[in-house]
Amino acid sequence: MSQNPTIETNPSSAGRWHVLADRVLQGHALDESEALSILESDDAELLDMLAAAYRIRYRWFGNRMHLNFLINARSGHCGEDCHYCSQSRVSSAQITPHNLLSADELFEGAGMAAQHQAKTYCMVTSGRKPLESDLATIEAVAPRIKQAYPLKLCVSPGLINQEQAERLKRCGIDRINHNLNTSEAFYPKICTTHGYRQRLDTLEAVRRAGLEICSGGIVGMGESAEDVVELALRLGRLKVEAVPVNFFIPIPGTPLEKVDYLSPRWCLKVLVMFRMANPKCELRIAAGRERSLGPLQPLGLYVANSLFVGDYLTTKGQPPEADFEMIEALGFEPVVDGVH
Ligand code: SF4
Repeated sequence: MSQNPTIETNPSSAGRWHVLADRVLQGHALDESEALSILESDDAELLDMLAAAYRIRYRWFGNRMHLNFLINARSGHCGEDCHYCSQSRVSSAQITPHNLLSADELFEGAGMAAQHQAKTYCMVTSGRKPLESDLATIEAVAPRIKQAYPLKLCVSPGLINQEQAERLKRCGIDRINHNLNTSEAFYPKICTTHGYRQRLDTLEAVRRAGLEICSGGIVGMGESAEDVVELALRLGRLKVEAVPVNFFIPIPGTPLEKVDYLSPRWCLKVLVMFRMANPKCELRIAAGRERSLGPLQPLGLYVANSLFVGDYLTTKGQPPEADFEMIEALGFEPVVDGVH
């Protein structure tokens, strides 16, 4: 007589992620030990954890997916030394640098964003801070884009001060992207030409100017679980509107080219932890999702409600058709006008 295999369950863990999700839904702010327990949990708990995080996602966003389209508005020639970045002064990576795109080219990019069903158009410039000519170009093109397309406009300009943030707000920019990238303690290991405090100052200026904040990080640069937790909880305290989670892509020619250790299950736990720490934010799976989540990529969408369609700054994304197929297979729908 054949016997059914015994399925072992751990009664102490059964339901505990749903209990935590209930508390988060009631307004509880995730603490450090709860956040760490997510990252340190056994892989056997992953499905329970994803189901619990999905309840939080569903509460605020239903099955909607917010799509973002990114344009590399200026590439390379950067004097900073961010060790993960192919555009830095310490990188010998093969990229094609170019000066700031013209207002017409940025306008054309907005058309592509709309074509890809994106609701947010992100214009990203390399460099420590914006030049006067960058701001003037954005001021010229933002009202044109707003008139032509129903897009949220985001700019990733580097370090900015209060006056620059206010200028961007006045011309029609809705949101500024400025990633904290990692914990304050780990930051000197990935960049020495500017400090964490300057990044926080930029976020404060953005907030004071009345702009939305998009700020997230890169996971997988050699930081500890505690560093990832510190970042997620800090973003929760800052109540940022959007959190992009990038999974590190080691780029040949950069100082971190040999750092490569992420597993798909770890990446999913990271997403769950970010969702629990930032329940109402637009949580975006950003660069590296194809490489690091691999075949588990669709599971990440039960947690995150936002994606980039198309390519990233200097690395390729999967074809947009593959994203639409994945979204449809899950029964999710891209956000349409007027629905967040
Ligand atoms: S991340 Fe930005 S500031 Fe840092 S090196 Fe790259 S382009 Fe320059």
